[in-house]
Amino acid sequence: MRATEAPDPGRARPVIDLHAHSSVSDGTESPAQLVASAAAAGIDVLAITDHDTVAGWDEASAAAREHGIALVRGIEISCAWRHTSIHLLGYLPDPGDRPLLEELARARDSRATRLERMVERMAADAIPLTYQEVLAQVAPGATPGRPHIADALIANGTIEHRDEAFRSWLGDDSPYYVGHYAPDPVRAVELVRAAGGVPVLAHPFTRTRSGAVDDHLVGRMRAAGLAGLEAYHRDHGPEEVAHATELAERLGLLLTGSSDYHGTGKRNRLGENTTTPEVLEAIEATASGVTEVLRPAG
Ligand code: AMP
Ligand code: FE
Ligand code: FE
Ligand code: ZN
Repeated sequence: MRATEAPDPGRARPVIDLHAHSSVSDGTESPAQLVASAAAAGIDVLAITDHDTVAGWDEASAAAREHGIALVRGIEISCAWRHTSIHLLGYLPDPGDRPLLEELARARDSRATRLERMVERMAADAIPLTYQEVLAQVAPGATPGRPHIADALIANGTIEHRDEAFRSWLGDDSPYYVGHYAPDPVRAVELVRAAGGVPVLAHPFTRTRSGAVDDHLVGRMRAAGLAGLEAYHRDHGPEEVAHATELAERLGLLLTGSSDYHGTGKRNRLGENTTTPEVLEAIEATASGVTEVLRPAG
């Protein structure tokens, strides 16, 4: 078959990566370092989407200006579903929206007490760890998560990579697992929408303790205002991508792709999965405009 459009190397399509973490949650790079890494990796548009917080936005914005890349300010909200945690990306919400901020603060508070309880259970089972060691791994004001327990075990020489801790002790079905307060996924969609943001279900078919998210839940989230599915993600194989594509067609949802980069905390590389400019445009058109995509001048 002949191509209908000659490739034009002078007009390359922008590389758009809409999901990445900084040390403001469980990434290993500061927001400024994250943006610098993205620029170095050839990313044109990066979304910063830390777990349950907007605390990295300002630092990332300044760095994006400095490095000449575009920045989508977002969040990744942990949601409680059938005794497990599923993730909702929220792009371009109003960072001053009270109901959203209060919900995020409540989740972060509950995350701290939950980590302490997990450490107590682990220490009782002779895993060499104190809560103080875990706290030392959480940047000031950052959202605490299980990866910080893993980092404490790396720091005290018990393991070498976060992966090992998740395999042995930190998984959703581990006896040491303790949940934290998190909103219901439909409520989270409503909160992001009410804040003028654009909700996209992160890696919907990642395996959890309760199995993958089911189509019925996605349908209910769609009715509440869900805009898209993150189909192209390391946690998805061809079957999961096909399922997401079919579901998106049926429900009228956008399909996004991203790296879910966590610095050295995960093996995911910036730009390993990407989102098309057309989908980014649709996301921007859906947002209220209170928070805009920051683009380099000129
Ligand atoms: P939490 O937010 O406390 O529920 O912890 C979940 C986080 O752990 C996710 O956002 C992932 O970034 C991270 N995570 C899950 N599995 C692994 C793994 N095998 N290796 C490294 N990080 C992981
Ligand atoms: Fe994470
Ligand atoms: Fe996630
Ligand atoms: Zn993520």
